Amino acid sequence: HFITFEGGEGAGKSTQIQYLAEALKARGYDVVITREPGGSPGAEAVRHVLLSGGAEEFGVRMEAILFAAARSDHVEELIRPEVEAGKIVLCDRFMDSSRVYQGVTGGLEPDFIRSLERIAINGMIPDLTIILDLPAEVGLSRARARGDDQGIKPDRYEKEALAVQEKRRDAFLDLAAREPQRCKVIDGTQPADAIAQEIEKLAFTLLGD
Ligand code: C5P
Repeated sequence: HFITFEGGEGAGKSTQIQYLAEALKARGYDVVITREPGGSPGAEAVRHVLLSGGAEEFGVRMEAILFAAARSDHVEELIRPEVEAGKIVLCDRFMDSSRVYQGVTGGLEPDFIRSLERIAINGMIPDLTIILDLPAEVGLSRARARGDDQGIKPDRYEKEALAVQEKRRDAFLDLAAREPQRCKVIDGTQPADAIAQEIEKLAFTLLGD
């Protein structure tokens, strides 16, 4: 099985992935944790280019194609083989992040994004996508608290960052509404253990456990 986690900055994805992994392991499942961009050696090399500041002169299309290239490698080298071997793969960000970051706030046409998505995932659609939803201010202040880039911006950029983050939030909610079977929205402002319980329930339902 393949489960992905999505949401804006500071949504708590990595914490929740750890919780779910523990819960699944405790029930005897084999779990693999991975993330995007990255997850396979080739994709990690692309991640480095995309997130290390070396990508500043790249256009949005080039960036989107690189995210797709990394995703394709990640799917074929890690996700598909592990799922086929019977493992449960938990992935921090996947195709929905591209729909939102490169598509909605990146401004790329839906057709362009869809074509890249089809090529990159090659049928590897997540069985379940957890969307951790929370107000932009909350996410950004959490990101700031842990020292993420997005948080350490002078106040002129702060409003811009908030508006962009709000747009991404709406975009995640929109795509969840369009695929309610796959995408489950969870209130990310709840205490971490309450969120973990909701996610566990969804995962065990998926697994028929
Ligand atoms: O929050 P996380 O550590 O997963 O974020 C990685 C960063 O990579 C995001 O904040 C976002 O800026 C970027 N990203 C992106 N498009 C994707 C996936 C990640 O722009 N498809």
